[in-house]
Amino acid sequence: MQSDYISWSYHQMGIVSTLKLSEKTTNNIAWQRFLPNGPVAMLPLTDELSSLIWSTTPAEAKRLLSLSEEEFVNELNIALHCKHPSSIIIQQATNLLDTALRMLNCSSVEQKQSPPKIGGIEPNSRACFPLGFGHSSQYIRKGVALVGDAAHRVHPLAGLGVNLGFGDVTCLNEVLGDAVYAGSTLNDINYLKNYETNRQRHNIVTMSAIEGLHRIYNTDLGPVVLLRSLGLQTTQALEPLKRMMMSHASS
Ligand SMILES: Cc1cc2nc3c(=O)[nH]c(=O)nc-3n(C[C@H](O)[C@H](O)[C@H](O)COP(=O)(O)OP(=O)(O)OC[C@H]3O[C@@H](n4cnc5c(N)ncnc54)[C@H](O)[C@@H]3O)c2cc1C
Repeated sequence: MQSDYISWSYHQMGIVSTLKLSEKTTNNIAWQRFLPNGPVAMLPLTDELSSLIWSTTPAEAKRLLSLSEEEFVNELNIALHCKHPSSIIIQQATNLLDTALRMLNCSSVEQKQSPPKIGGIEPNSRACFPLGFGHSSQYIRKGVALVGDAAHRVHPLAGLGVNLGFGDVTCLNEVLGDAVYAGSTLNDINYLKNYETNRQRHNIVTMSAIEGLHRIYNTDLGPVVLLRSLGLQTTQALEPLKRMMMSHASS
């Protein structure tokens, strides 16, 4: 299918691996930490295993992959747990906002928790992929429909790539069902057009939000850091806003 495709590279690599937690725990929280080179995230698999996605520069990725598995785990534990100096102004602003939110009865302070320690990795489970953005301006042609990463590619920082693809498949299934029910054919462009319109309406909003997050977490410019800290804190405190965002992300 010939189609306009917008794309760019993030000049980052995503290291993936299956992590063994140092001890069995109720492993039901996804963790993500934004580091100067990119985010490091752990997604729960079982009570003892999590999946790693560590975005970093190509040079750093090469170095991390050249380490022994034991050295890699040490560096990962440091990346997940080390303290970074934070600005006093930002601390004061977030404390102030927290006081205001408490007075409005919507506290943003959750019990402080930290990610579980990593004890090891599944042997030979490390791999590394280039990260990029991509979007096809057209998802369909007569008898053809693009779904999933063939139509769109996002930064893994939101963990939404697969969800976007699942949403495409659900929508395409419904549209094809409508076509058959109406006595039309599966390659009817009028029905396929509904698929393209519905999914682009959803995907472009989600992809723009992910791109926005990537950009605001990819800078250490004081005012942006302040705004993102306050924004995150407010989102955390406002349950309806959080629910709305989760509902959009999962459709
Ligand atoms: C490092 C990294 C971490 C990620 N983490 C997450 C995450 O935590 N959560 C999340 O939701 N998403 C994540 N994603 C995104 C997610 O992996 C993709 O969105 C998802 O795999 C897309 O599925 P897909 O089936 O559309 O495409 P793919 O998974 O790319 O599958 C396409 C398949 O088609 C095969 N293929 C290609 N060309 C041909 C051909 N000509 N003939 C035959 N076969 C062919 C390929 O080999 C491949 O097996 C991550 C991506 C990366 C790179």
